[in-house]
Amino acid sequence: MSQDRRVVSGQPKKSDRDNIALRPQRLADVVGQDRVRENLSIIIDAAAAREEAIDHILFYGPPGLGKTSLAYVIANEVGANIRVTAGPAIERAGDLAAILTHLKMGDILFIDEVHRLGKAVEEILYPAMEDFVLDIVIGKGPAAKTLRLNLPRFTVIGATTRLALLASPLRDRFGARFRLDFYEPEAIERIVLRAAQLLNVEIRAEAAVEIARRARGTPRVGLRLLRRVRDYAEARADGVITMPVTQEALKLMEIDHLGLDDIDRRILTTIIEKFNGGPVGLDTIGASISEDSATIMDVYEPYLIQLGFIDRTPRGRTCTMHAYHHLGIDYTEDPADGRQRLL
Ligand code: ADP
Repeated sequence: MSQDRRVVSGQPKKSDRDNIALRPQRLADVVGQDRVRENLSIIIDAAAAREEAIDHILFYGPPGLGKTSLAYVIANEVGANIRVTAGPAIERAGDLAAILTHLKMGDILFIDEVHRLGKAVEEILYPAMEDFVLDIVIGKGPAAKTLRLNLPRFTVIGATTRLALLASPLRDRFGARFRLDFYEPEAIERIVLRAAQLLNVEIRAEAAVEIARRARGTPRVGLRLLRRVRDYAEARADGVITMPVTQEALKLMEIDHLGLDDIDRRILTTIIEKFNGGPVGLDTIGASISEDSATIMDVYEPYLIQLGFIDRTPRGRTCTMHAYHHLGIDYTEDPADGRQRLL
């Protein structure tokens, strides 16, 4: 299924465009992630006191949790220009060299999907991040010469959904690394209420609680559900987001009370019914439900693991009894390994 049609996907979609207006501007607007916020505020204050560019920062965690937003917040807080790019957009070393030579003192270079930078590009990035120099090779063969350019002190803010895919020398060059976790429903509720206010939509408190509960701990999903429920309220009711309107709209989207959609349920039933509860490899699950295994790993699985529905073992994924309960599937316990099996 295309990620653009999936309502509860944490990945960005075209319809998320007005999220930009909803993005927090300052650290004080950032809801939740208290530990990250506190640490960032120390880094920002210390750099301001020393009148230096801030250290390179890496954010990692599932999509839609606020990595990009935090990069913009930092830029606002320190009053820096931010240049935004992404790993796959920097194809050749020359592309990165062009970006780097245009940076000014204190600028922030935000690199999304930083784990997708090519090897040759990374080699340019290492000395740029560490020593603020750019080595350019001119000519070929024995006549080739290396020219070393000094760069202004700038800051790289990297974001990745896959810390494990980041080459360790690159990982080590980020002085500060922060893992973003799924949000508590109360935090999503606050984000939804704030967005409703900015979008000028009337929403009842209990409806915001309901949306937050089904947002899989992900602000982007909470905002998307809010917009879909608003559309429903406008088309089928008087525009006010009430509890009945919310429940009806979510039912129509086939999102259950934990925020799971059809694909999540297919992942779980595949493991249970086709592979007897697992363990089964990610690629096999992907092939069974015609879904890319990298997408399952980045987008679906983190929340299913967080719920305790899936276990990641060295031999593959297994479903826990919580998944059987949630889907209403009867099971028995296998005395050999204590694992749940279909009755
Ligand atoms: P990521 O880069 O991790 O995929 P984004 O930074 O694009 O996520 O966040 C997605 C949306 O969720 C943003 O448009 C923003 O409005 C909202 N959002 C994310 N984190 C927060 C937060 N802590 N407080 C308020 N809104 C947030």
